[in-house]
Amino acid sequence: MIELLGISKSYGRKKALEGISLTLSNGQCLALVGHNGAGKTTLIKIILGLLKPSNGSVAVLHGDPGNRSFNRNRRHIGFLPEQVLFQKTLTGRETLAFYARLKGLSVKTLDTYFERVDLLGAADRRVGTYSKGMRQRLGIAQALLGQPKLLILDEPTSGLDPVARQNIYKILDEEKRKGAAVLISSHVLTELDDRIDRVAILNDGKLVAQGSIPTLRHQIGMHSQMKISADREICRELMTMFQNEIPARSQFAGEVILTCPPARKVEILGKVMAFRGRIQDIELTDPTLEQVFNAYSTSDHSAGELSDA
Ligand code: ATP
Repeated sequence: MIELLGISKSYGRKKALEGISLTLSNGQCLALVGHNGAGKTTLIKIILGLLKPSNGSVAVLHGDPGNRSFNRNRRHIGFLPEQVLFQKTLTGRETLAFYARLKGLSVKTLDTYFERVDLLGAADRRVGTYSKGMRQRLGIAQALLGQPKLLILDEPTSGLDPVARQNIYKILDEEKRKGAAVLISSHVLTELDDRIDRVAILNDGKLVAQGSIPTLRHQIGMHSQMKISADREICRELMTMFQNEIPARSQFAGEVILTCPPARKVEILGKVMAFRGRIQDIELTDPTLEQVFNAYSTSDHSAGELSDA
């Protein structure tokens, strides 16, 4: 769906992107993350054909988005920009109908889209009366028009309440199951854990890592925490067993916390499981995407070494 090879982009002397190679296949969700100014919007604009790269090749839906001949492919791309701006005097329905016509779609089935984003009751109200979250949901409905093969969403959950956020991720899962490729750019890393297949981390125009979250955790050697609750005596036994092998501590009586290197996590879990029946609980916490992002953003790694794509 997307194949970028050695993409660079400069604005005058400013190098916004340097040597980005990235792929996205159908049925996959890729999150593009990075600090402000890392180059996410520039990359999205190149994928959409709104900007030409200074170097490198771009293939989107097997075509070059910078070519005129690509226009027939555009109906297969759904795009939600970071700033959703609609004509305030039009109703939601008139707005969606406008975008549907641009994509050459029937306006008879618009209710389905309003229903999906929970806006059916407000479809005939002027957009000027919508809350920020309602405008955002209208933007998502617009991006979903015509069941796109490629969905590109810049901060899709911006301004949405927790229920609406859940609904958006449910919709994205449905689109993925239908075979769409989804590219999300987001700063809200906490909500991406468990919801994406792969992540691409941009740092100052360079791709510092790409792969699944577990792969990136593993490659950078981020440790997981295993918290075991058991009687004091069992805790003492566990401490004795592990304290010379891995960091082991006991914050409270009746609890042991083991810090597990990624390569030894399963082995350690196996050893702890030998105590089953005598322990009350095991809580395994892997580093979150936010922690992975921070680790990659502050260390000197290259995407080449770390990619599993
Ligand atoms: P944010 O998270 O703040 O939206 P971003 O990751 O999307 O940031 P970009 O907007 O792609 O980052 O910008 C990347 C770099 O390129 C920044 O240093 C920005 O100042 C610069 N830049 C972007 N557009 C232009 C432009 N039209 N002219 C000059 N520099 C630009």
